[in-house]
Amino acid sequence: MKLSGLHFLISYQCTHECDHCFAWGSPRQRGTMSFAQIRDLLEEAREMGGVESVYFEGGEPFLFHPVLVNSVKLASEMGFSVGVVSNAYWATTLEDALAWLSPFADALADLSISSDHFHLGQKDRTRISHAEEAARLLDIPLAKISIADPNEAEGRKGMLPEGESAVMYRGRAVETLAPAAPKRPWTEFRNCPHENLKDPGRLHVDALGNLHVCQGLSVGNVTEKPLAKICEDYRPAEDPVLGALLRGGPAELARDLSFEMQKEYADACHLCYETRRAMQSRFPQTLAPPAMYGDLSWE
Ligand code: SF4
Repeated sequence: MKLSGLHFLISYQCTHECDHCFAWGSPRQRGTMSFAQIRDLLEEAREMGGVESVYFEGGEPFLFHPVLVNSVKLASEMGFSVGVVSNAYWATTLEDALAWLSPFADALADLSISSDHFHLGQKDRTRISHAEEAARLLDIPLAKISIADPNEAEGRKGMLPEGESAVMYRGRAVETLAPAAPKRPWTEFRNCPHENLKDPGRLHVDALGNLHVCQGLSVGNVTEKPLAKICEDYRPAEDPVLGALLRGGPAELARDLSFEMQKEYADACHLCYETRRAMQSRFPQTLAPPAMYGDLSWE
C-alpha cells in the first residue's frame, strides 16, 4: 500500500449529531487523541515517505483547539500539506472567527467547512459566512462540503448542483435516513463505489489507533504495529471482509458471510454497513471500533 494521505480523527466527539454522519459524531462520544499521539504518527508518516497530505477531522476537531493548533503547525513545519474539516460552530461573530482561525494562518492548505442543512441548519448559517470571511482575511483556502438533502436530491433525479454530494448510507444515516430512501435490489451492489480497497492511498486513524480504509473497516492498529509495517503487510484479499468486498462488493460480502439480507437497500454502503454491523462480533479487529457502529458505551 502506498499511502499519500493520512487523516486524523482527533475524536468522535462533536457539537452535533447529524443524521448523515458516517462516524456517529456526537457530544456523547468519548476519546481524544493527545498531541503526543499525533506527533508520533506524523513522525512515522514522514519516516515512511510518500505521505503528502494530512487532515485533522472528527467529530469536531475545533473542540480540542490547542491540540489542533499545535498539530497543524507541526504538520506544516514537517512539510505536509495540511487540511482541517469543521462545522464552524465556533464562528459566532467575525471577530471570534478571526480569533479561532488566526493561529492557523500560513499553516493550513485547506479549511473544509460543512455547509448544509444537516449541520448548523438555516438559522446558524451566519457562522458559515463568518468563517468564510475570516478565512479570506487570513488568506486560508476554504472549501465547503455540502451534502444534498436526499428528498430534494430524489426530486432532482440525481442531478445534484455543483459542489453537492449525495448522502452515503453508512453510520448514523443507516438509522436516520435509509428507512425513507428509495431502494434497489441487493444484487446490484457488486462493488465498492467510493474506496480503493485494493490499494488505498488514504487512511483515517482514530484516537484508539484504528486505521480505517472506510469508516469502521480497520486495516490495523497503530498502537500494536508501526504505520509503515501495517502498510507493508496489507493483504486485503486474505481478510474475510476486505477479500469478499474486493471479489464482489457488498453483495458478495453479505452472501459470503451468510448475512440475513433484506431484498433491497438504499445504496452499496447501506448493504455493506448493515452486513458489517451484524458481523462485528465475528471480526472484531477488522470491524472496529464499536463506536463506528453506533455503540457509544465507551466505559
Ligand atoms: S461502506 Fe462499504 S461499499 Fe461503502 S465505501 Fe465503505 S467499503 Fe465501500
